[in-house]
Amino acid sequence: IFGAERKNSKGLNMNIISESEPFFAALEKFKDNQWSAGPLVNGETLSGEVRDVVSPYDTTLKVGQVAFANEAAIEQAIAGATAAFGDWCRTPVETRANALQKLADLLEENREELIALCTREAGKSLQDGIDEVREAVDFCRYYAVQAKKMMGKPELLPGPTGELNELFLQGRGVFVCISPWNFPLAIFLGQVAAALATGNTVIAKPAEQTCLIGFRAVQLAHEAGIPKAVLQYLPGTGAVVGAKLTSDERIGGVCFTGSTTTAKVINRALAGRDGAIIPLIAETGGQNAMVVDSTSQPEQVVNDVVSSAFTSAGQRCSALRVLYLQEDIAERVLDVLKGAMDELALGNPGSVKTDVGPVIDAAAKANLNAHIDHIKQVGRLIHQLRLPEGTENGHFVAPTAVEIDSIKVLTKENFGPILHVVRYKASELNKVIDEINSTGFGLTLGIHSRNEGHALEVADKVNVGNVYINRNQIGAVVGVQPFGGQGLSGTGPKAGGPHYLTRFVTEKTRTNNI
Ligand code: GLU
Repeated sequence: IFGAERKNSKGLNMNIISESEPFFAALEKFKDNQWSAGPLVNGETLSGEVRDVVSPYDTTLKVGQVAFANEAAIEQAIAGATAAFGDWCRTPVETRANALQKLADLLEENREELIALCTREAGKSLQDGIDEVREAVDFCRYYAVQAKKMMGKPELLPGPTGELNELFLQGRGVFVCISPWNFPLAIFLGQVAAALATGNTVIAKPAEQTCLIGFRAVQLAHEAGIPKAVLQYLPGTGAVVGAKLTSDERIGGVCFTGSTTTAKVINRALAGRDGAIIPLIAETGGQNAMVVDSTSQPEQVVNDVVSSAFTSAGQRCSALRVLYLQEDIAERVLDVLKGAMDELALGNPGSVKTDVGPVIDAAAKANLNAHIDHIKQVGRLIHQLRLPEGTENGHFVAPTAVEIDSIKVLTKENFGPILHVVRYKASELNKVIDEINSTGFGLTLGIHSRNEGHALEVADKVNVGNVYINRNQIGAVVGVQPFGGQGLSGTGPKAGGPHYLTRFVTEKTRTNNI
């Protein structure tokens, strides 16, 4: 991260007054700001069916409005991105990388507006908003550097005297990037930056809940020098925009982050359309466990459990869902956990005091509350927070911990602040490993142990993409912890890792005897 060629963004330390005072002053300007967004096609904002955007924290507060893309806008975007591909693909990789570096600068310059959008449109906490902008900056810079390394020169291959054999990498065509609401800037731009750096043109479809943030990001990308037709923006629903894009034969690849179910819908659409067989890069959900043995330190465990399970209101695909506690240590850990949960401040995500904000929308809240009701019957409630006054108008779900007998009682990912706890005996470790693997998901795994051999054995045997030992299991850092899973958790490759860009290119071998 601190290599000569690239540094990760340093973010903001709110404890340093000389940094935080100007930050809060700048943030204040966007307190009541109203944004508007729509399809951005060949650089023009088009009209469409307009929807109000309200805050998940308090649905009586309007944040702005967005026009959803109609069929005509979708067609124009596909045609524009298709026509722009040839020139963009032949644009030197240095030029493409420079535009992404410039975009990273513009993100930093507009940090406060973007953070305000994260808190107000997506209900993210202030700290999450700060981290979100930082990660978006890192993705742009990382892929810019990686693309230059990978595509700067063709690879020379051996051949008989007089013959020149070279291997070139080039963009695949029009990449459709479909991103989630839980990282409306970082994952949105991570996908887009990877596709652009490698010479693809892009049609970006944001999650329908976070269209304002995506719109600002695309405006900044155009300002940074990404040609308007090279990056098209289509807000709208999956059923209309997503379905139309993924069934069009002019599309050259799809990059998707979201649920496993939707990834399969996309996969079927791609398989069923006319035209070429194209790649789907999918990052999907998890049923993430943490395995804690009796050599661990309860206070440290609880600190990492609380941050892994409850921050971001549990709305990270990396978040901890099932905590396995060795029975000798379980009572002590649960005791400390209850106390730590009581310290969590719920409320306005824009306030520096808030640890846990709302979930994204009414449907998410209803699903999560239904799961809590159900799992309290199946298992035994450990602890549940009360929602404080002032949260009535928002989509708040009370952080909850429930003891269950096995991970097998969970039939789906529950994307919110709900922690399940399973006790195990020292002799049952292999059963624990088998159970975790039996879910079919494979995203993150936490381990707490002071027995290195033990920790490494669990790390080796559980099939996941990211293992974290003696720390929390969220917040993968670009270039440091390449992120992504296996099995039901996605197709790989890993975002923010050295092999990610290889999925966005085709290879051409040129044998030359001139
Ligand atoms: N990369 C994020 C993390 O490590 C999670 C991404 C997601 O939720 O999709 O926490």
